Amino acid sequence: MAWLGLYDGNTNEVRPVTWRGEGAQRYLDGLKLYVQNGPSDDEDLLSRAIREQQFKLTHDPAGDLRPGLGQLALECGYRSIAAFPLMVAGKPVGVLSLYTGEVGFFDDEEIKLLEELAGDISFALDHIEKAERLHYFAYYDTLTGLANRTLFHDRVNALVLAAELNGRKVAIVLAELEQLRSINETLGRQVSDAVIVEVAHRLHESIGEACQLARISSEHFAFVLDDVRNETEIASFAENRIMGCLKAPLTAAKRDISVSAKVSVALFPNDGASAELLVRNAEAALQLAKDTQQKLLFYSPQINTRVAERFMLETSLRHAIERDEFVLHYQPKTDLRSGRIAGLEALIRWNDPATGMVPPDKFIPMLEETGMILEVGEWALRKSALDFMQWHTLGLQPPSVAVNVSPVQLRQKDFVATLERVASSCNHGLRGIGIEITESQIMENFADSVAKLKAIRIAGIEISMDDFGTGYSSLSYFSRLPIDTVKIDRSFIINMENDQHSASIVSMVISLAHALNLKVVAEGVETNKQAGMLKIQNCDEAQGYLFAKPLPHTDIGALLQAQLRPS
Ligand code: C2E
Ligand code: MG
Ligand code: MG
Repeated sequence: MAWLGLYDGNTNEVRPVTWRGEGAQRYLDGLKLYVQNGPSDDEDLLSRAIREQQFKLTHDPAGDLRPGLGQLALECGYRSIAAFPLMVAGKPVGVLSLYTGEVGFFDDEEIKLLEELAGDISFALDHIEKAERLHYFAYYDTLTGLANRTLFHDRVNALVLAAELNGRKVAIVLAELEQLRSINETLGRQVSDAVIVEVAHRLHESIGEACQLARISSEHFAFVLDDVRNETEIASFAENRIMGCLKAPLTAAKRDISVSAKVSVALFPNDGASAELLVRNAEAALQLAKDTQQKLLFYSPQINTRVAERFMLETSLRHAIERDEFVLHYQPKTDLRSGRIAGLEALIRWNDPATGMVPPDKFIPMLEETGMILEVGEWALRKSALDFMQWHTLGLQPPSVAVNVSPVQLRQKDFVATLERVASSCNHGLRGIGIEITESQIMENFADSVAKLKAIRIAGIEISMDDFGTGYSSLSYFSRLPIDTVKIDRSFIINMENDQHSASIVSMVISLAHALNLKVVAEGVETNKQAGMLKIQNCDEAQGYLFAKPLPHTDIGALLQAQLRPS
């Protein structure tokens, strides 16, 4: 009789996997084989062969096996027993054991042959193990243990094939963690890996086996839902099972971290007939969901066009930076009492050689998403400082210039240091330069923003709160802000002529700002009536097409020049 057993290093158990010969079943049923960590009285021949990694032979089963087992061997008619350890990469992985009723059956010749056989089996096991490992790497994500892209595609294709026959719908759902990139940037790779593992665990718990879960790229989790009926069902899956399981903060690398996911969906048969196409379309939808701040987006054919357009815009903007295609226009802020230009706002434009002057709302969001705004924002500050000094050198007595600062810039840890760097790179520092930031920008992280704004003000830079009235700042927060000026949003100015409600808000904001010693600027003033009302309400300055549109540097020079002439 012969049998082959595999040894599990974790449990120390040897499990028979194949056997042949008389009495095998009876003998193996009675065999419970554990390998001991060291020599002991009740250790038998088979365990010792594995522990000592050496061939063992006995002609006395009753003496060399455990008492019960030795007896069983004799009952089965075995007189001589040989055990050959099976080794892979220098470690025992099993045992090949042979039994015969003939004493002295295993002579030197026989043992040599059997040792060669054990060597061949070990070689085969080694090969199988490597193949299994390769299979694992080819089909599983090593960080989370989830299926990878290849395996996910295989599963989707199998489901699609079945769905085609049954006329069913299959949904491919992708999810991306919104904060992953910033976690990686601020807390490092180890923490972001820990977050991914924890999220994989939560998703698995929340979703179970029914919807097959995978990690198909460093940023994307994927699910396939079989036999879905309608979009509502999928939306509720996304909301409850995916977004829902991420609501509570998770602990990764001993920190509490909040994460949320954006989700996209592509459906078989409408959005593609193969896993590859379905996943690609779901990825396009996910990209657009991110770009347009949507939580959940279903694929539609227009999405690919929009994603392609956005990709082209991003590429063109990178070129625009390299080729220095941005320009600053300046819009005057007029003192309502004297009618003189009391300030200027720098407003960026992209002079695209293909289409001409592009307004900022067409490209600022993309600059912000890609982080290019950091470079462009720094450029705008430096350029404004240079333009201011040029007017100054020409003797034009320019008023201060306010530069718009994006939330992405303000969020940077080194924002204050960046301003200092820009100042030191200009001959006269940031003289005459102020900044405009929006209300919601400050509220995003109040304490952090206030600390930065205080540092900026100490450096002599004036701060204006832009688009006031569109955010949600409470009065108590407002009174604690280190700012110099409030700019009332254009939406209130447009309506103040015809809507008593808006007029009251404007009047209230002016009084409140003055009570806090702040200057007030009205934005988007287009009519004499608006200007008149603002003047009566003691508004300090007005900015709008009634006075001047944003103008190139030289035109502003001419306006400042005209202002110098005695009237
Ligand atoms: P904002 O800072 O509130 O700028 C005022 C916008 O209102 C400007 O649009 C200006 O041209 C427009 N405007 C001024 N007076 C009137 C008026 O009487 N009627 C109407 N209908 N509009 C008026 P623009 O130049 O298109 O800028 C739009 C926004 O783009 C700005 O809003 C600002 O948030 C952003 N932006 C502009 N330049 C920069 C920049 O250098 N950096 C950053 N981060 N954002 C910028
Ligand atoms: Mg502004
Ligand atoms: Mg504004």
